[in-house]
Amino acid sequence: MAIHFLQSKAAKTLSLAFVFRMTETQAEEAFRKIRWSETEGEPVCPECGGVEPYQYRRPSGLLRFRCKACGKNFSITSGTLFASHKAPIRAYLAAIAAFMNEVKGKNALALSRDLGMSHKACWIMLHKVREAMAEEFKARKIGGQDKTAEVDGAYFGGYVKPANFREHRRDRRLAENQTGKRKSVIIVRERNGNSLPAVFKSESAALSWIKSKINRGTIVNADEAAGWDALGSKYEMRRINHQEAYSDGEACTNMAESYFSRLRRGEMGHFHHVSGPYLLRYAQEASWREDARRVDNGAQARRVTQLALGRGPSVDFSGYYQRHIHQAQTAA
Ligand SMILES: [Zn+2]
Repeated sequence: MAIHFLQSKAAKTLSLAFVFRMTETQAEEAFRKIRWSETEGEPVCPECGGVEPYQYRRPSGLLRFRCKACGKNFSITSGTLFASHKAPIRAYLAAIAAFMNEVKGKNALALSRDLGMSHKACWIMLHKVREAMAEEFKARKIGGQDKTAEVDGAYFGGYVKPANFREHRRDRRLAENQTGKRKSVIIVRERNGNSLPAVFKSESAALSWIKSKINRGTIVNADEAAGWDALGSKYEMRRINHQEAYSDGEACTNMAESYFSRLRRGEMGHFHHVSGPYLLRYAQEASWREDARRVDNGAQARRVTQLALGRGPSVDFSGYYQRHIHQAQTAA
């Protein structure tokens, strides 16, 4: 029998141990080659495109450049998701490696123990990695002629604790007994292809988004919830009654189910307060991991680093210290 992919050598190419054997200069080299791939790692001024900067180090050891053409100061991460980094570059590489190697997701507390950094710094770093992953979904469309996709939804977040005594119990399905934070995660997933998640108040609120993301000509599998009926106006549908079976040979939503079980495991085991503005990021992380589950860890880490260094500064964390301090302290 073939060895499980996760035990194979290819899956272990970017281990934490490997990153920890790197010097800071080697880590910088790795970042430079990913950010400035066209010049094989030679720095390019983000302001004017000049390629002949002076290179110097701050007293703290952080590597800086000064453009000879326009005089702008910049670092390896200026203008990227990791802009104005405080930690050594090696810590970012280690965070990404640890994050990718942990199949079920990595939480910030565990990472802070691994790296000897503060919980808050690690929490922000991991959310920036998720923000990098989110780049992948921006222009994504699912399906097409003769392709098959699955659609499903499930509720996450805003957990209402059940009361201990039966007479105190409330019907947690009723709107008045919910926290208002409970949201529906919708997944559209192409068979033998990619997936795309989104967060809505309810499944029915997702219909126009689904229609805009699944290409015409796709055969769409969904369960028998009445909310999906409206999709029949655009797609050929296959419906499955989950009370009877998860697959009847014709219709099946097993791929969507396996996505939700991954997200559910993340919710239970790692990020205890999956709610609010970060639910979409966790949903995107689970989707990214599902799609990349056969890609080796080293390639996954390179891809995420590429996404982080190939885009502008964080949107989620702009003005972070002013606005999000409370959430940072209460989220896991
Ligand atoms: Zn310049």
